[in-house]
This record gives sequence, C-alpha cells and structure tokens, in this order.
Amino acid sequence: MKKVYNFSAGPAVLPSSVLKKVQDEMLDYADSGMSVMELSHRSSLFQAIIDDAECLLRELMSIPDHYSVLFLQGGASLQFSMIPMNLAQNKKVAYVNSGSWSEKAIEEALKIPDLTVDVIASSQQDQFKKVPTIPAVTADYDYLHITTNNTIEGTTYFEVPTGIEIPVIADMSSNILSSEYDVSDFGLIYAGAQKNIGPAGLTVVIIRKDLIRLVDNLPAMLDYSVQEKNNSMYNTPPTFAIYVAKLVFEWLKELGGVKSIEAINRKKAQLLYDYLDQSSLFSSPVERGSRSLTNIPFVTGDAAIDKQFVEEAEKAGFVNLKGHRSVGGMRASLYNAFPIEGVTALIEFMDTFTKKTE
Ligand code: PMP
Repeated sequence: MKKVYNFSAGPAVLPSSVLKKVQDEMLDYADSGMSVMELSHRSSLFQAIIDDAECLLRELMSIPDHYSVLFLQGGASLQFSMIPMNLAQNKKVAYVNSGSWSEKAIEEALKIPDLTVDVIASSQQDQFKKVPTIPAVTADYDYLHITTNNTIEGTTYFEVPTGIEIPVIADMSSNILSSEYDVSDFGLIYAGAQKNIGPAGLTVVIIRKDLIRLVDNLPAMLDYSVQEKNNSMYNTPPTFAIYVAKLVFEWLKELGGVKSIEAINRKKAQLLYDYLDQSSLFSSPVERGSRSLTNIPFVTGDAAIDKQFVEEAEKAGFVNLKGHRSVGGMRASLYNAFPIEGVTALIEFMDTFTKKTE
C-alpha cells in the first residue's frame, strides 16, 4: 500500500484505526448482514449510532444540556445562510472579517432581505496575517459571528469574547475538537465534518436551545426548530458520515479527549513553526499571536521555488501541500488525525530541499 502523509485542508486525513474499523464492519455491521450504508435511518441500529455520536460529542466538548446537537447537511456553507435566516430576529447582525471564509459568511448574510450586516472588525488591511481584535458590541445586534480558525490564512482566535450580551456564533469548521473551547461562551457553533470529524457531507451544529425558535415561512430543511424536533432526521441524514464521525469520536475519547489532542496538536505545530522561524528558505507569513495549530501556511517568497517544492514533496509522499489558490505558497494542515511523525518527516524533507537549493 502506498504510504503518504496527507496535509489536505479538507477532506482530510482520518485515523487509520477508524478506517480499519470501517473496513472490518463494511460488509456486515453488527450482525445485520448489511453495511451501515444500507441500514434504514429509522432502524434501531442506526438510531444507536446517531445517539452514540451525539453522546460522545457532548462528552468530548462538555456540551451543556441546554444546547442541542444537530447533524445536518449542506456543509458549513449552508450555515452561512441558515444562521441569519433563523437568528436575525431584529434584523441587525455583527460579523468579524478574519479571512476568506468569514467573507463568504458575510456575503451570504448580505443576501438576506432587510438585514443590516455590520462588519465590526476586519484584518483585511493586514492581508489577514492576524486575527482582528474584537471590539465591544452593542446589545441591539442579534448575534456576533466569528471564525475561530481561518483555514486558508492559518490564523486562530485562542480567546473568544466572553461576557457579551449577544450570542457569539462560531464557524469552527477547521478547529473543532482540536483545541479546547468552552461551549457556553457561544450561542451556536458549527463545523463541516471533513476536517476533524469525519467524511464530507455532515455538518455539526451545536445551538443553545433558547435560540431555536419558530420563524415564519422558513423552508423546513433550513429551520433549526424542524431539525431539532425531528432529532436531525426530518429527512434522510448522511448516515454513513455520522457512523464514521461516531468512530472518530470514540478514537478521540480513547486518546484522552480534546485536552490530550490539543497538547499533541501544540507539539506538532510548534515543531513546524520553530523550523520555519529559523529556516533560511521557508517562513510563516502569519503573526505569532494568531498562528493556527491546524493550518500552517508557509512560503519561500519565490513562486517558482514554491511550485518546485510542492512537486518534489508530492513525489516523496508529502501530498496536498499546495497553498489555497487565493494565497499561493504551501499549507500544511495538521488536524487531529495527522501523525507527529509526518511533521518531523516533512521538516527533514524541507531541510534536504533547502540544502539542495542553496
Ligand atoms: N468555513 C471554514 C472555516 C472552512 O474551512 C470551510 C471549508 N474549508 C467552510 C467554512 C466551508 O465548508 P463546507 O465546504 O463544508 O461548506
């Protein structure tokens, strides 16, 4: 079997023990004579899977009882619309622009009729090399939307605003479960699954129950109250993705949970940042205080050398290192399932490449 280190930003590497378990259970899940993909979502076997997935996620993130966990579809991108559709009662919302995905969230909110969308902080003028400081917000906003980790730019909010009167909504797509956050600091947390949770096709939404209310004329699929009332099964949920997510949650619990994985993630990221900071060829474009643990962009400053590096790395089994098309350079995504040996191997490879180009 070909061995690669997969640095993809998403869909991303999954724990090999989880994939092995999926393989073992593929043809006959729990003596049913079928794969999980073939089970009815109304069967007791699948009900047990989705219940376990929810329980495990609640445990891993210490989700309080007054929050609902929803397993939805449409990616994090659909949440860009569902959030303002469901939560903007007073038609005034605040957004922080910390990068390309925040911009997309803002763009979608701007499409909602009669909604005032105020961008109260932005680091665009700093080319998103850091996250902007979040100013105080007034209570007349329905919510404040932030992106805890900016996948493309490689920046993170390690501290989130606390003690403010309005709900903080967080796009946690690229760092959910990779570092500890206190769920009660948020009104709603959402994440596409395909980075730290499981396969694409599943979106996790964690929402404070008092924020779920009936809104007139919302399509059922876009209505949190409908999704909650039907326990995420108003229609057929992404059953296989939920099953794999459950296995990933079990894997993470076994490892000691989010605190333990955060320590490992810090080590992995530190190794790479330390290397970048002393390298004569590569450097990190991101300001120190904002540096992400999960997405680490780096550059040589010469597009031709970047290209050569990505090509040679790919051949050597370090795959998906090309930076996002909007920023160029390289990006190493080091999500939970990415092994620390992959980071040391990459550093060795970068070192050999450096000596060769000198
Ligand atoms: N937000 C962030 C921070 C992301 O990284 C991504 C995907 N890379 C998205 C939103 C969009 O997610 P999806 O593709 O699941 O819609």
